[in-house]
Amino acid sequence: MPLCVPTPADDNAPVINGYDTSILPLCARLAARVNAFLETEAETPLLRAVQEQTRVALGVISSALDRYSLDEISLSYNGGKDCLVLLILLLCALATYKKHALPKQLHSVYIISPHPFKEVDAFVDESVATYNLDLARYAMPMKAAFQRYLDEHKKVKAILVGTRRTDPHGQSLTHFDITDSGWPAFMRVHPVIDWHYAEIWAFIRYFEIPYCPLYDQGYTSLGGTTDTHPNPALKAGEGSNKENQSQSFRPAYELVEDHAERLGRDW
Ligand code: FAD
Ligand code: MG
Repeated sequence: MPLCVPTPADDNAPVINGYDTSILPLCARLAARVNAFLETEAETPLLRAVQEQTRVALGVISSALDRYSLDEISLSYNGGKDCLVLLILLLCALATYKKHALPKQLHSVYIISPHPFKEVDAFVDESVATYNLDLARYAMPMKAAFQRYLDEHKKVKAILVGTRRTDPHGQSLTHFDITDSGWPAFMRVHPVIDWHYAEIWAFIRYFEIPYCPLYDQGYTSLGGTTDTHPNPALKAGEGSNKENQSQSFRPAYELVEDHAERLGRDW
């Protein structure tokens, strides 16, 4: 069953494709599914690892919500699989948020690539509508974009980031790290830092979360059109199943090893 289950919407709630997207019912729905997943030990080692990672990530998000008020927190979102998992977990954590009423939309920020994939931009647009994001978009280098974002959103002090240990620069990060010198100053929060590639996909597929369609074409890490290609490790050939023989690349979720994730990136 997909994670976003249609529910009867109240008269004032925004409805998209029959889904009540107002934020509290959305959070409650997601939390109910995730909590049910966590209640009993999963059957496979991979899903048991996902359960443990989910508990840790929810703990980090809760601690961020203790340390900062919701209007001081933002999410860096580029439509990729890692920040998608992070977004779902943030919404779950907000189901029991007691500090004050939830805002209608969540602070979030997207730095548009100089050569964006239209599929990524379309997926980001979809996410904005589905998950109630107040998304600021900037088409400029990342440091300048975050400086502009902080100038325009003076309350924001902490930004959730979907970086994982195997990403460039991910090796020495912890759950909470102030930005490096030379970067605009804010707290980076990394709830999924220790998730493995396969665990991200197991979460997305277990909950049937819609994701950017490029991942079904063999892209495993999304940059811009000029520096990102389908992952050569997923080239269809011997070993691929019959159903996939007609495609040139197998879907991203078939890759297993963390180190192979960026083989389709030029940097
Ligand atoms: P991915 O693996 O695609 O991204 C990892 C995560 O970064 C995503 O899940 C998402 O949460 C975020 N992200 C990546 N690209 C975007 C984007 N275009 N728009 C919005 N969110 C995005 N580098 C430093 O050297 N020092 C720093 O202090 C520093 N602070 C940063 C703070 C934030 C909030 C972000 C997003 C980046 C920061 N960076 C910093 C840059 C970072 O180290 C990576 O170079 C950059 O995120 C691209 O990473 P990636 O290619 O691994 O992207
Ligand atoms: Mg990533």
